[in-house]
Amino acid sequence: MTRARSAPRRLVMAKGLRFQCRQCGDCCRDFPISLSPAEVARYDARDWTPVLGQPERVHEYSSHRGVGGQFLRRKPDGTCLFLGPDDLCEMHRHLGEAEKPLACRLFPFSFLGGAADGRPVVGASFACSAIAAGDGEPIVSRRRGLEELLEELEAARPLAARGTPLRFDPRHAYGRAEVELVLDLLVKELEDAGRPLPERLLAAVKFLALVSSSAFPSLEGDTARKLVGTFAAGIHEQVQRGLLRPRAAGPSLPERLLFRQVLALTVRRDTAALLSAGVVRRTSRRVGNLLAGLAFMAGNGAVTCVGRDRRVTVGDARRRAPPADLASPEADGALTRYLVAHLSARTLLDPSFQVPEVLPALGLLFRQVPLVLLLARAACLARGGEALTRDDYAAALRTADWNFGRVPWTAGLVGRVRARLLGDVEASLAHLPWCGGASAPADEG
Ligand code: SF4
Repeated sequence: MTRARSAPRRLVMAKGLRFQCRQCGDCCRDFPISLSPAEVARYDARDWTPVLGQPERVHEYSSHRGVGGQFLRRKPDGTCLFLGPDDLCEMHRHLGEAEKPLACRLFPFSFLGGAADGRPVVGASFACSAIAAGDGEPIVSRRRGLEELLEELEAARPLAARGTPLRFDPRHAYGRAEVELVLDLLVKELEDAGRPLPERLLAAVKFLALVSSSAFPSLEGDTARKLVGTFAAGIHEQVQRGLLRPRAAGPSLPERLLFRQVLALTVRRDTAALLSAGVVRRTSRRVGNLLAGLAFMAGNGAVTCVGRDRRVTVGDARRRAPPADLASPEADGALTRYLVAHLSARTLLDPSFQVPEVLPALGLLFRQVPLVLLLARAACLARGGEALTRDDYAAALRTADWNFGRVPWTAGLVGRVRARLLGDVEASLAHLPWCGGASAPADEG
């Protein structure tokens, strides 16, 4: 709902995002729509007969990812109660956009817990086909409308920000501005379009290794900040001159197992249809997850990429799909957009991100790189393609982002081991031969 406002609060926009709604209806099929108490009261007071043909209770209590609340009801096929046969929203058609839940009007955007200067940051879900494809206008053109949505959101509940100092790794905790400096230097490196993506990625992970191995008790103060900038510039130059190279060794066994777990939990998507599923269906889903997890740990498992109908196995994707070239314009465009958007949106610093230490969170983000190559090959094989296209990479980004940051990888005792593995960010690049299919001396087999 649009309201009169005095001075709009300024937002920080994540870099590189573009959006134009494709009216595909996927968000109305796949995502649960949670309602605020005010929306529940408003919808209870309305007679829905003109919209739905009969009086209906349009919401129900359910839980999604362990969080209980009121959600819009779903039809038996799992789609939103209001999704029409033409993939358009009946609530929008009959009552106008302002009547729709805030969650619908906001998607695919989200407000993340604030930059160092306290301003909220606008990020977006790559599960949305338009965001993943990078279509449409830069999102900065939506600033005004997003500011209004933020005001509406904050009237219902304040935006949360993670407290500082932020734990960087087991030995270091830094202020938010210092962590943001590291993220900004990564963005600068990745956006340097004059160099191939493999070189930029290598410089990014080597820079993180140098920061984490340095004995900075704090990054505060001009001297420390200048030194971090000098690190980044030095690594950039050494990679460019070929003095720093990727590790020759393939991933260790624990690293391989971790990566396969990440792959397994990435491709197991709980859609909104599960909201109204009974105990039997939820239990069989859990058993299915367990069996699928074992298959992935063995190096196989089945994948259905978002936007593709056909399931393919990891083994088939690796054997039969065309190889993925990290240096190709398609891979470069997709992965640069994805990494830069998440780094500049400060996704990893938001309280909702389930890996609280910054370095393991970055390790998880960079492991998305080989994952996206493998998923793009699966998407290509699923459509019977002979070469990977932008659309295959968009399908891969949609799949990879679905559960990104939603799994508490570093919780508990096992989580400590995973945190240590994830904190070795450079290890993410060791999976490239296994996922991309290019011949390389160090293939994990
Ligand atoms: S209310 Fe409308 S926009 Fe929201 S999920 Fe349902 S059909 Fe989609």
